[in-house]
Amino acid sequence: AKKKQSAKAVLYDPVMHESVSRDLIIQQELKRVIERGELEFVYQPQIDATRNWITGVEVLTRWTHPVLGRVSPAEFIPIAETSGMMEKLTRYQLEWCLRKFSEWKQQYSFEGVIAFNISSGLFRNKNFIAFLEEAVFEYQIPFNQIELEITENIQLFSHRESVQTLERLREMGMRVAIDDFGTGYSTLSYLNQFPVDKIKIDKHFTDQIMVDEKGEAILVSIVKLANSLNLDVLAEGVETSEQRDFLLMNGCDDMQGYHFFKPMTLEECKEFYHERVLK
Ligand code: C2E
Ligand code: CA
Ligand code: CA
Ligand code: CA
Repeated sequence: AKKKQSAKAVLYDPVMHESVSRDLIIQQELKRVIERGELEFVYQPQIDATRNWITGVEVLTRWTHPVLGRVSPAEFIPIAETSGMMEKLTRYQLEWCLRKFSEWKQQYSFEGVIAFNISSGLFRNKNFIAFLEEAVFEYQIPFNQIELEITENIQLFSHRESVQTLERLREMGMRVAIDDFGTGYSTLSYLNQFPVDKIKIDKHFTDQIMVDEKGEAILVSIVKLANSLNLDVLAEGVETSEQRDFLLMNGCDDMQGYHFFKPMTLEECKEFYHERVLK
């Protein structure tokens, strides 16, 4: 081992320095692209695997920077969240995607849902919630075709006003889905107390299929629990036909994943939907 480093040396650790400045660069650059409206959105179909049918699409954000290249939302969304940029980003996304979605609905007649990932902090933001309601109203999308995906989050569910907001949105007809189900802290306890329509089982559990019997057992019990509480249940990250078959056999019809479709442009979605092509 080398000799003990001084505090100063640690402070100027070049590796740390590099990652700190990358976060800062991302923060600055992201601010600019949000203001200019230069983010892109892709859509990943949700499938009812018994009917082999697209029942909805989830909106995911994409960002390609001229120097940094493709930056994953898994990296930039947390930065946007901690630096207060999610309201702007999500407003812009809603505005853009609801308009496209309403054009699609007018052109053809898509009855499925459009699902948005909404950072939990935004449920405390009255201006944002008002904007959401008005945008859905303005684009004349039936409320029951809007799904809000919220990451399992103890803070959200213990904040009374946020829960009331969710209740109101559901009374209007919007659907609420718990994203990444099974990875958070409070998992089962709040399911019968809080206003949700659907759970999305995290890819972690789908990956257990044919791999780990105990993991499979947990997955199956989550599906049973959801079914017995009359909640919709969707498995994320389905990549193989074995996983699909296992899920179907165990009462989980709704799926999403590369086995069916990767996230794609809305144009591509429309084509698949209207040509009724499913693998
Ligand atoms: P998520 O909401 O759980 O979305 C699913 C992620 O898994 C997406 O990654 C999707 O492309 C990926 N995925 C889907 N099927 C498969 C599969 O079969 N195999 C594998 N390996 N991956 C699959 P993506 O687009 O990179 O997004 C990562 C996360 O970033 C999302 O996880 C979500 O939490 C967040 N995110 C993305 N866009 C937005 C956004 O506009 N707003 C907010 N609040 N969060 C977003
Ligand atoms: Ca999601
Ligand atoms: Ca998820
Ligand atoms: Ca996730």
